[in-house]
Amino acid sequence: MARIVMKFGGTSMAGTERIRRVANIVRKQAARGHEVAVVVSAMAGETDRLVNFCREANALYDPAEYDVVVASGEQVTSGLLALTLQSLGCKARSWLGWQLPVRTVESHSKARVETIDSPALIEALEAGEIAVIPGFQGVSELNRITTMGRGGSDTSAVAVAAAIKADRCDIYTDVDGVYTTDPRIVAKAKKQKAVTYEEMLELASVGAKVLQTRSVGLAMKEGVRVQVLSSFVGEDAIPADEYPGTMIVSEEEMNELVEKGDMERQHVTGIAHDKNEAKVILTRVPDKPGAVAHIFEPLAAASINVDMIIQNVGRDKGETDVTFTVPQADLARAQALLEDKREDIGYNRLITDSKIAKISVVGVGMKSHAGVASTMFSALADRGINIQAITTSEIKVSVLIDEDETELAVRVLHTAYGLDAADEAA
Ligand code: ASP
Ligand code: MG
Repeated sequence: MARIVMKFGGTSMAGTERIRRVANIVRKQAARGHEVAVVVSAMAGETDRLVNFCREANALYDPAEYDVVVASGEQVTSGLLALTLQSLGCKARSWLGWQLPVRTVESHSKARVETIDSPALIEALEAGEIAVIPGFQGVSELNRITTMGRGGSDTSAVAVAAAIKADRCDIYTDVDGVYTTDPRIVAKAKKQKAVTYEEMLELASVGAKVLQTRSVGLAMKEGVRVQVLSSFVGEDAIPADEYPGTMIVSEEEMNELVEKGDMERQHVTGIAHDKNEAKVILTRVPDKPGAVAHIFEPLAAASINVDMIIQNVGRDKGETDVTFTVPQADLARAQALLEDKREDIGYNRLITDSKIAKISVVGVGMKSHAGVASTMFSALADRGINIQAITTSEIKVSVLIDEDETELAVRVLHTAYGLDAADEAA
């Protein structure tokens, strides 16, 4: 018998029929003798709808009232799931954010969990009751409702799992695990049995939208074992206890899996792409101390996240070009700020391009294996794909290319790293 947190996303909760399907999955898990806490998202599209109401009511909305409105989506689904479980003969009740309570910092619309009061919850679980907890919502020190940022139910689930020391946190979604790359682009993409926290963090932040990045960081910090799996399965599906999905584990656990022969040793675990970045080039920036700080200080002050930064070696006359990327949604603001600071920075031209894509290859295997970057560069070169910028970290290499070449690049790299699934025998 184990203590398990099960989290269901918006597509899994979208409507009565789907909630019934979820209730059946939960009932079966409980029937195996497990203690079960369920964390739910709002119905797909609901949070967007609520956000729009806030905008219509008051374009400069008060974040505290925004939270009151958007947190309601999860209140609805948690109540509905408890009702459906009861109709199947299960003992179940909902626990709203303020009832547990899930204490967060007073930072509306992007709150962070501080503590979750778990004794009452654990008592209910031990008494055999299924707990249904709305994701996304918490309560601040001032007893006001908070929400944890878009996609925050993943983080709620991991936080609950940490608080009640769950054996596992199963995140049910509309895909059956974490793939080597987007299966819509590469038909031969493979589902991974396991990836490490570090890999998942990099993949989540470079555009593989399976989990909220923050939830992965929290799982890593708290050592919560997470499984990503599908809620869209038939009656004869492999039970979650037998790990049909992808486990997100520590590097030590990954090494054990490799040694036992459960996992192949791979240098690259995943290939992600992100079309939501834009490139900014400032030409002929003075090549002297403080010049770069002048560029990035105003962007930081405006909370614009700068990702890749490339400064060329100074050319003659003590000048250099600086290239970097920002989220496409922030490009207009970044451009306005930089034009404002033109005198201070002293650049010549400001060039922007949002028709770019960032392609990243990720894998902890890179730590101990040389040549991953050069494989990437030659594979892209062979297909005539031009690389505009490069950045690397210990377990990631990212390049910037023309957006039109995204799909081709992903396919070429998937093959180059030997990730293509073998053809199924007929
Ligand atoms: N309902 C929230 C959102 O759509 C939180 C979540 O589903 O994770 O962002
Ligand atoms: Mg989500």
